[in-house]
Amino acid sequence: MVHAPSRPPVGAPPVRINLYSDTQTRPSLAMKEAMMAAEVGDEQFGDDPTVNALCDRMAALMGKEAAVFLPSGTMCNVIAIRTHCRAGDEVLAHETAHILSSEGGTHAATTGVQIHPLKGARGMFDADTLRAAIRPGGRYSPPQRLLEVEQTANIGGGGIWPQDQLDAVVAVAREQGWATHMDGARLMNAVVGAGIPAAEMVAGFDSVWLDFTKGLGAPLGAVLCGSAEFIGHAWRWKQRLGGSMRQAGICAAACLYALDHNIDRLAEDHANARTLARGLRQIAGMDVEEPDTNLVFFNPAGTGLTAADLVGALRLQGIHLSMLGGRIRACTHLDVTAGMIEETLGAIRAAVAKG
Ligand SMILES: *Cc1c(COP(=O)(O)O)cnc(C)c1O
Repeated sequence: MVHAPSRPPVGAPPVRINLYSDTQTRPSLAMKEAMMAAEVGDEQFGDDPTVNALCDRMAALMGKEAAVFLPSGTMCNVIAIRTHCRAGDEVLAHETAHILSSEGGTHAATTGVQIHPLKGARGMFDADTLRAAIRPGGRYSPPQRLLEVEQTANIGGGGIWPQDQLDAVVAVAREQGWATHMDGARLMNAVVGAGIPAAEMVAGFDSVWLDFTKGLGAPLGAVLCGSAEFIGHAWRWKQRLGGSMRQAGICAAACLYALDHNIDRLAEDHANARTLARGLRQIAGMDVEEPDTNLVFFNPAGTGLTAADLVGALRLQGIHLSMLGGRIRACTHLDVTAGMIEETLGAIRAAVAKG
């Protein structure tokens, strides 16, 4: 993530309302019970029945031939990009993409690709912008190999790509012979928000992954999906990078639990985000972006408070928010209730009134 890990200010009480990130959810008791009961085996050997069940389910959900379980979303991006590309190739992505801003420079350090940053509102770009980035080819140009999109677009405000816009950029990639990769860290938020089945939404993508540690509430794990051939090559990189595991079924069980119990309820997070945005908009001077999913970005500058003032004041009441540039980000998830949203709005109104 973009936000730097930060220590709580001196004297800050424990966090009661955690809107900082959906990565900070804790596994529920029922999820932990599923983990305790998991049948396990040697994952490197392909012998862990729970990991295999998760991969089969994810491949079916995404409409792809195969899937591989990985420890993190970042490793999914690294392995997918390294599988699609060679060092020196160019990846086309939005300028706010996680692969550019939040992976520690790994694409310079490990995959060796260069990333062409594209502009566009809300973390998305259109087919014309993509087309304008096509290079002439020949020996001078970096070989353009891969189109990458984020669904939802994180820094873009958790926005859902309109399906026709997504299809249009994929069509440009196809015409150019590029591969296509979706960073689906919060893909299920998009699926629930748009009401489009996952397999349909990602049909144009050669590879796609889902993070289980965001709104789905698992302690770790992400699953990368693609063709059987692609996943075969991805496995080689998983091994090379040290991402092959042993009794990983204990974690895959949490992911299977999340698929069964924590998808449909994402709609509640989206409703809470809309309630928060609506309440914030009623505060004079507050600049609020309308949320598509579970991320609410707002800027209090017009109220006379800076983002840092407001985040600091709320943290002293046990309400935790994050800051991105001059904006504040509130993230709803399964540990945030409608009552907590009301309480947060009350605290923000009070902080603004106090000035
Ligand atoms: C969180 C996130 C990642 C990285 O996932 P980790 O599991 O934290 O490594 C990648 N892309 C986006 C858009 C994310 O939000």
